[in-house]
Amino acid sequence: MKVPEIFGENVFDLKVMQDKLPKEVFKSLKETIEKGTMLDPNIAGVVANAMKDWAVEKGATHYTHWFQPMTGVTAEKHDSFISPTKDGKVIMDFSGKELVVGESDASSFPSGGVRATFEARGYTAWDPTSYAFIKDGTLCIPSTFFSYSGEVLDKKTPLLRSMRALNEQALRILRLFGNTSVKRVYPTVGAEQEYFLIDRKMFDARKDLVLSGRTLFGAKPPKGQELEDHYFGPIKLRVSAFMKELDEELWKLGIFAKTEHNEVAPSQHELAPIFTVTNLASDQNQLIMETMKKVASRHGLYCLLHEKPFKGVNGSGKHNNWSMSTDKGVNLLDPGSTPAENGQFMLFLMAVIAAVDDYQDLLRLTVTSAGNDHRLGANEAPPAVVSIYLGEELQEVIDALEHDVKYKGKTKQIMKLGVDTLPELPKDTTDRNRTSPFAFTGNKFEFRMPGSTFSIAGPNIIINTIVADELRQFADELEKAEDFNAALHDLVVKTIKEHKRIIFNGNNYSEEWTKEAEKRGLLNLKNSAEALPRFADKKNVELFERNKVFTEREVRSRMEIMLDNYCKVLSIEGQTMVEMGRQEIYPAVNAYILELCKVIEHKELCKVVERSEKPASACKAPAERKVAERLSADNEAMFAKAEEIENLLAEAKTHTDAVKQAKFFAEKVIPVMEEMRSFADDMEGYTAKKYWPFPTYADILFSV
Ligand code: ADP
Ligand code: MG
Repeated sequence: MKVPEIFGENVFDLKVMQDKLPKEVFKSLKETIEKGTMLDPNIAGVVANAMKDWAVEKGATHYTHWFQPMTGVTAEKHDSFISPTKDGKVIMDFSGKELVVGESDASSFPSGGVRATFEARGYTAWDPTSYAFIKDGTLCIPSTFFSYSGEVLDKKTPLLRSMRALNEQALRILRLFGNTSVKRVYPTVGAEQEYFLIDRKMFDARKDLVLSGRTLFGAKPPKGQELEDHYFGPIKLRVSAFMKELDEELWKLGIFAKTEHNEVAPSQHELAPIFTVTNLASDQNQLIMETMKKVASRHGLYCLLHEKPFKGVNGSGKHNNWSMSTDKGVNLLDPGSTPAENGQFMLFLMAVIAAVDDYQDLLRLTVTSAGNDHRLGANEAPPAVVSIYLGEELQEVIDALEHDVKYKGKTKQIMKLGVDTLPELPKDTTDRNRTSPFAFTGNKFEFRMPGSTFSIAGPNIIINTIVADELRQFADELEKAEDFNAALHDLVVKTIKEHKRIIFNGNNYSEEWTKEAEKRGLLNLKNSAEALPRFADKKNVELFERNKVFTEREVRSRMEIMLDNYCKVLSIEGQTMVEMGRQEIYPAVNAYILELCKVIEHKELCKVVERSEKPASACKAPAERKVAERLSADNEAMFAKAEEIENLLAEAKTHTDAVKQAKFFAEKVIPVMEEMRSFADDMEGYTAKKYWPFPTYADILFSV
């Protein structure tokens, strides 16, 4: 395989555009893409035709507006290119109008009350800043999705809006540093994706995996990740065949799949692409997840993207590496080597620090979901408390600035920002802190809280917007300053003083940190029901409106959708537990108890079901009796819990207020689900293997 030749072969990228479009049209389209402006309607027809010819040449027969509704997955509705001719034949046709807008019934997508059913029309519009591509014989046109009244119904539009806000404010800052040549600043993202690969047969045999993506029952296996033999371990043949094919598919789609390795837990892996502009990174991450599932199925495997498929085993996250870059390719979170570059770096760094501190709630709630609640705060992923890691060297610099004392490093100097140079900061030190939710890693931040199923659009909308807003305040202040360097220095010192509570370089998993964080007044929003309602807090609505990212109605609709999703997921999980408990576990355990009873009877002993007066030790079959009694008690208790869950789910439906309903699930339903599970998991350990109705953790985790 010649990688450079296949790379991007299914993408209508700049090179193809230049090849296929008339010069003037190409120029105009390129400008649209680079500036993120409106498409000139006069060229749409020409572009559409060229796109269609290119796609048909590659075997495509259909096209679709490919968009990202609030479900978190992508949506597509395929139309074929065929158009009838007078003589009863067909030609392949695709008009400018079809390229630019699509009409779609929006009533089946979540809208959180924004779209009443009487105005069910939704529209999709081509987003020219993201390249069209061919997937399974269909030309996919990346699009935004909005309602008849103009409100956004997707994750793409607000992401583009947040990028625009960041661009505007970052440019103001760059101008202050005398930079007049940069035309555009955009956020960059590299999203590392974790996932599990299990045997398809194991997946099919478990209703919980099929219906909820995670195991709702399952005792801890004798071997998990204790030996730490899986991380970066040798990759099994079947998995490596999967990874090779996955890479190839992704390369054809122009995705820079770069690193593939085994993760901490058995059967867990990771894929990291090379970073790119955020909206592309976001589209690409959706394609990565979709392609993973598709390729897995070709190898008799199933790809689990859930945040916590197995209790007691590491879950999966998505590390969102984030930075800002100019159109000249300069990374704005790279410290640089001159005093001006250093001063500028410090200012951008301060914007991130202040943003994370001021909007801990938004960062927390943008990564919350029923699935990710199992991860955040457990002893594996970042905690539910948001904080920033800077590392020792940068911390020293900041301390020295704050207290106006000599920097302890080699240079031993007092630093004046904008005048002096920063000491060399080591990039990507190997001992870096892996427990931090928001870690500076030399020239970018790594936000480690997003869950593996998430669209990265959500978290990046927030990061872009909150950083843009701090930059706006900085620019407002500095544009007025008479002595720029002095004002810059003061502003940085002031920001350190005001926001240093958000910086924590220690172990985020420790209990001391939870206590310390509370003392510092940092938020600790434990679950979705606690976090999500904060979305619509006044300060947050104002932030979104100020930066033209969401209207208040859009904020409220998004909050509704997330709360609703939380409740629905838990309701499905609850019902699945009830069914598996009643239809699979209960009868299986009873069958085994019956067998035990037969043994006991055979040994001419008391019948366990009658609960003989004689102590167990007096029996001739004490073990059988002990097991049978334990199982019998567990099974009855589990059955009772199933009934309790059923009643609670019915009660949950009576809560019409989304916030109250979510709280009900978090406080009332989840604890009972956990209780039910504990009885089942105990029984798993005592029931003969051949009676247990579905594959166990050991079967699944070591199946590939
Ligand atoms: P790791 O975190 O596993 O040590 P790296 O630090 O090499 O790996 O990179 C992790 C991810 O960060 C990759 O996807 C990489 O492309 C991305 N990345 C690197 N530089 C930037 C940047 N300036 N902006 C956004 N993402 C970046
Ligand atoms: Mg990483």
